[in-house]
Amino acid sequence: MTRVVIIGGGIIGLSAAWELHLRGASVIVLDARTAGMAASAANAGYIATSLPGPVPTPGLVRTSMKWMMDPESPLYIRPRANRQFLTWLYQFWRACNSSAYDAGLEASATLLQGTNAVMQGWRDAGIAFEMHDFGRLTAYQQQSVMEKDLAAYDKMAVFGHQRPEAMHGEVLHEFEPALSREITAAYYMKGERTVEPISLVKGLIASLERVGVDIRNGSPVVDIIHSGNRVVSVRTPTEQIDADHVLIAAGAWSGEIGKLVGARLPIQGGKGYALDFDAAQGKPQRSISLRDAKVAVTPFNGGLRLSGTMELTGLSDDLNMRRIAAIHSAGKRFLNLVPDEPTHIRSGMRPMAPDGLPVLGRVGRFSNLTVATGHSMLGVTMAAVSAKHMAELITTGEAPEVLAPFSADRFRGIL
Ligand SMILES: Cc1cc2nc3c(=O)[nH]c(=O)nc-3n(C[C@H](O)[C@H](O)[C@H](O)COP(=O)(O)OP(=O)(O)OC[C@H]3O[C@@H](n4cnc5c(N)ncnc54)[C@H](O)[C@@H]3O)c2cc1C
Repeated sequence: MTRVVIIGGGIIGLSAAWELHLRGASVIVLDARTAGMAASAANAGYIATSLPGPVPTPGLVRTSMKWMMDPESPLYIRPRANRQFLTWLYQFWRACNSSAYDAGLEASATLLQGTNAVMQGWRDAGIAFEMHDFGRLTAYQQQSVMEKDLAAYDKMAVFGHQRPEAMHGEVLHEFEPALSREITAAYYMKGERTVEPISLVKGLIASLERVGVDIRNGSPVVDIIHSGNRVVSVRTPTEQIDADHVLIAAGAWSGEIGKLVGARLPIQGGKGYALDFDAAQGKPQRSISLRDAKVAVTPFNGGLRLSGTMELTGLSDDLNMRRIAAIHSAGKRFLNLVPDEPTHIRSGMRPMAPDGLPVLGRVGRFSNLTVATGHSMLGVTMAAVSAKHMAELITTGEAPEVLAPFSADRFRGIL
């Protein structure tokens, strides 16, 4: 039996653990803190397969300059005199063009094919989690902005996604009474799924433990021992664990793990916040993306979540109360009946590569060390398919063709 050690127990590490177990591997998951409770607990839960474009978009450089001056804007980049960060930023800005965006969109949409089937397979195998197929509205103050955005969906026709249905005026407000009158237009992605993210990681953990996968919390990997072009074990402060294969799935921390073997994985943390509310009344009937404020609204069985913001401020889980208040007030402005006090506030760092695409494949010269990170805004969406393809790579030694655009080698010579 191949013994695989996974560094990091977020949604990416846990999903990989499940898919590896299905292929007969013996799996140990090591998490520095509590598995599932970092970014994978603090997100909107959208399974956003219908337009999975990367974060760097044409025009973002200009918009981000403007946003940087505004303490309540959806994007904040803290200037830092750190060579690694500045190189990352330069590469990010270089990726803000239409040909890179289109190539990234195509690669991601190809990767995501089969997502619903893999997730349904999880449920059929007894992994219990909250999932809805009530679709998603993307809501706008101005119809003209919506029309421009909608055109992007034409690129998705080849993947079988239809252009969403546009709505406005009374029709829209009857369809979704939770929207305030400041919203004048929206488009609706029928059937697009949403999961309650904490139920998903908890469901995976319960099923993994049921089948004998060893998940160890409070086990930070501090070293990776290697010999020639093979890794042989990992070390935590208290033990050394032998491995036939090691998978780095440590989210925003993956770059730090790469350094342990001299590999440069250019990953920055893009911090965001999730605010939970008890909302018995006035809860939307489906997920809503508030386009102008860039705030995600998700109704769960147990309440309502507002989430948003992207802060490039280094590896930290500090809460920026001003940005948190901005998310809350956007919710109050664009929705009816958002409560005054959140019951819980979480932060999470999206693992971000400079081109906004995942990093999936072998690391450096090592034949038995792989990485699965960089899922950015789409980690929950991409977890199932990333895990399936990574498990195939790890157990067969052959990288599926679909992973080619996500190779860690694309950064060679840059960083
Ligand atoms: C506000 C917000 C909204 C989002 N909304 C969505 C959405 O709607 N849909 C979507 O698809 N995605 C969304 N995302 C993105 C998604 O949450 C992330 O892409 C995803 O959770 C990343 O998962 P991960 O497993 O890579 O990282 P994480 O969940 O951060 O897990 C990494 C784990 O590695 C562990 N670790 C770190 N260092 C070590 C070490 N040395 N040894 C062992 N373990 C270590 C950490 O403790 C952590 O548990 C959102 C993110 C945010 C912040």
